[in-house]
Amino acid sequence: LSLPRPKYTMALKYTTIEDLQSAHAELRKSFQAKKAIPLAFRRAQLLQLARLFQENNDSLIAAHNSDLGRHKLEITLPEMGPIVSGAVRAAESLEEWNKPEKPAVEEWRSSWDTTVYTTPKGVVLIIGPWNYPFVCTILPLIGAIAAGCPCVVKPSEFSPASAQLLAELFPKYLDTSVYRIVNGAVEETTALLELKWEHIFFTGSGRVGRIIAAAAVKHVTPLTLELGSKSPVFIDADNTDIELAAKRILWGKQQNAGQCCVSPDYVLVPRAHQDAVAEAFKKAYRKFWPHPKGALDPSSELSSILNQHHYGRIMELLRRTQGNIAHGGNADGLKRIEPTLVTDVGLDDSLMEDELFCPIIPVVPVDDVLDAIQIIQARPVPLVIYVFTDSEETKNKCTSLLGIPPNSGTLVLNDTFTQLGIHEMPFGGQGDSGYGSYLGKFSFNTFVHRRSYINVPPSFEPFLGHRYPPFTEEGFQA
Ligand code: NAD
Repeated sequence: LSLPRPKYTMALKYTTIEDLQSAHAELRKSFQAKKAIPLAFRRAQLLQLARLFQENNDSLIAAHNSDLGRHKLEITLPEMGPIVSGAVRAAESLEEWNKPEKPAVEEWRSSWDTTVYTTPKGVVLIIGPWNYPFVCTILPLIGAIAAGCPCVVKPSEFSPASAQLLAELFPKYLDTSVYRIVNGAVEETTALLELKWEHIFFTGSGRVGRIIAAAAVKHVTPLTLELGSKSPVFIDADNTDIELAAKRILWGKQQNAGQCCVSPDYVLVPRAHQDAVAEAFKKAYRKFWPHPKGALDPSSELSSILNQHHYGRIMELLRRTQGNIAHGGNADGLKRIEPTLVTDVGLDDSLMEDELFCPIIPVVPVDDVLDAIQIIQARPVPLVIYVFTDSEETKNKCTSLLGIPPNSGTLVLNDTFTQLGIHEMPFGGQGDSGYGSYLGKFSFNTFVHRRSYINVPPSFEPFLGHRYPPFTEEGFQA
């Protein structure tokens, strides 16, 4: 399964501003011509998308690896499998998802043909991040195709080989008058944002998310913001298997070297158990990386940090921390940083400032679960809260505290990361971690308008006489 360490194999060709504008114009024409609407067309395009990922599996994985130096298994499981199964499941679900709904209404309106239809919103834009160059762009695209929306996808310029390969493969499999990959950086994305879209689906940082939101508001464009955050973990050490918790947290943290939106960011532990938790992390580390040089061994599967900029940022965080480096702290001087445990971290520590997006695990000692909840509540709303406990009382406290539970996009008990594989549930943030959601039918829901329809039959007129002026006292009795 081992792949060579990253080296750029492809240069990314940016789309010219003129080509972006003409792509937008062509997609609008296709929408007017209702090209993306027939269910047979949507089904065929979804299956073509699945074929694109199946038939080019090896070259897509190689491009991804050359961008991010990630192990084949870490690419296949989160990036390739969900796209193929997601596209096929959407193709199979089109009739059901698009079925008009007949809501239950009051008996006296039962002859009004009350119906809710789903209609495609229109031409939509998807902007993606570099850390998951395929799922963060293509899973929303599956929703757009299923909804009948023509779509422009703008992958990140920081995963250039993946972005370039997608741009080359799309015309071979999909109808490019309806679905288009465009490439570029800030200038190109800014030009895209000047155009009118009927929905923008953005995945990336909170800083850029705010720029996207400000641009969208000019055209009153609905928006999905899938943003990053500092997702906390609470270990209820009296009521959980600490070794299992440490193993599952370290597994989630080392995925893509911590460069995941749902990475467990920092760990809150009752003070008396901090040392035991640190020992459990060390034990899990030794099991994961029994190599002579641990996780930094050339033969280990640990992913790289994106680039020197982020590498420097992370090393600087480690330099500034006032916590105690209990394990790790090494780097290979190139792009790999060892999963590192820092204990006795204070709330104002450098490691608690922003989303870490790296394999550092700060451990913050707390008094108890209520203290942990207060710390979480005092910070921006995270994408996920992870809690390790077997106690019903702790579970209840985390779901409801005096009616005000600590908010988050998702609450996960006793594991990390796994929630992303469940496409029957919505995935998305709340507050500072974004708004809107996707996966499975929720992606479809994002790109359709639910249009209510009624027909009040003329034969109903005898029952409506009381509503017309001149008003009478009898009108109140009607
Ligand atoms: P980013 O915000 O820097 O970039 C995302 C996209 O925005 C890229 O395509 C980029 O070209 C574009 N962009 C950058 N600057 C822009 C500007 N000034 N104007 C217009 N467009 C601009 O994010 P990133 O570094 O690619 O990704 C990492 C972030 O994404 C992390 O915060 C991570 O948590 C978050 N993320 C969130 C999710 C989620 O589902 N919530 C998933 C993956 C990543």
